[in-house]
Amino acid sequence: MTPSGLSATFPDTTAGLKATVTLNDGTRMPWVGLGVWQIAGDTQTEKSVRTGIELGYRSIDTARIYGNERGVGQAIKRCGVPREELFITTKVWNDDVRAGRVEAACEKSLSLLGLDYLDLYLVHWPIAGKIVEAWKAMERLQRGGRVRTIGVSNHLRPHLDELLGAAEIAPAVNQIEFHPYLQSKPLVEFCEAKTIRAEAWSPLMQGGDVLKDATLVEVAKRHGKSVAQIILRWDVQRGVVTIPKSTKPHRLAENAAIFDFQLTEKEMFAVDALDRNQRVGPDPLNFGF
Ligand code: NDP
Repeated sequence: MTPSGLSATFPDTTAGLKATVTLNDGTRMPWVGLGVWQIAGDTQTEKSVRTGIELGYRSIDTARIYGNERGVGQAIKRCGVPREELFITTKVWNDDVRAGRVEAACEKSLSLLGLDYLDLYLVHWPIAGKIVEAWKAMERLQRGGRVRTIGVSNHLRPHLDELLGAAEIAPAVNQIEFHPYLQSKPLVEFCEAKTIRAEAWSPLMQGGDVLKDATLVEVAKRHGKSVAQIILRWDVQRGVVTIPKSTKPHRLAENAAIFDFQLTEKEMFAVDALDRNQRVGPDPLNFGF
């Protein structure tokens, strides 16, 4: 068996940060984007996002709960790159899902971002008893044109089964915790089978232990790259969209420089073999918020 997704989805990444994957509804999404969780305040958020855009990032991943949509919006307004060249993702938070306010929450996010449409809107977490209701609202948002593409986040197999059982539009994306120590292979394979593109959150495990992993250090040395670059390259090479976060310009540049080398099949297998089902974030089957 080849590493999951490798043969079927090996991307043409010659366009660098502008390289895109075509989602199941025909929308094109950059393989690598910039995550902005834990970037505090509008000023710092605007600064990081503008630096990212100057370095070539075109995809930005925020969420209502991050509290920085306004800062992302300021960066979009002032960066000088046409809106249609950017790919903006935000997410509906759990309170709004529980209260049946998905569409109103989308309008609020659009207003904070200063946009008239989103490229991707995600249901942030699967809320028991609300999965189908939330998804129906997402479908209405897409049909109404406020959102180009709709997807989910943190949805495991049981959540997807429930959603797909009632969906008229399949999610285009499932954004999940994904890094060499948490690969969720059956879930990613299920998403592939259903044409739902997996997207990695905390791809660098939030800067944790994985960056010191001996196998990854060895692969990195062989390529003259950092461990972070090996992980991000592994993501796209196995067909998973990735959104590393950094506020540091040199790391933003480092995380973008993954398009001038390739991992061999043997190296892909070596990274695949590091899976240890280790989460850094909450378990979608048991979260308390
Ligand atoms: P990441 O795995 O992207 O790691 C970010 C951390 O790693 C930061 O502390 C950063 O520090 C550091 N870092 C970044 N680049 C490097 C590098 N090249 N070398 C060493 N350290 C580095 O974690 P996130 O949790 O931020 O995940 C990425 C994005 O995913 C989020 O920003 C958010 O958009 C999304 N997300 C979605 C979730 C969901 O439920 N859907 C949950 C969590 C995240 P510094 O900034 O100082 O460079």
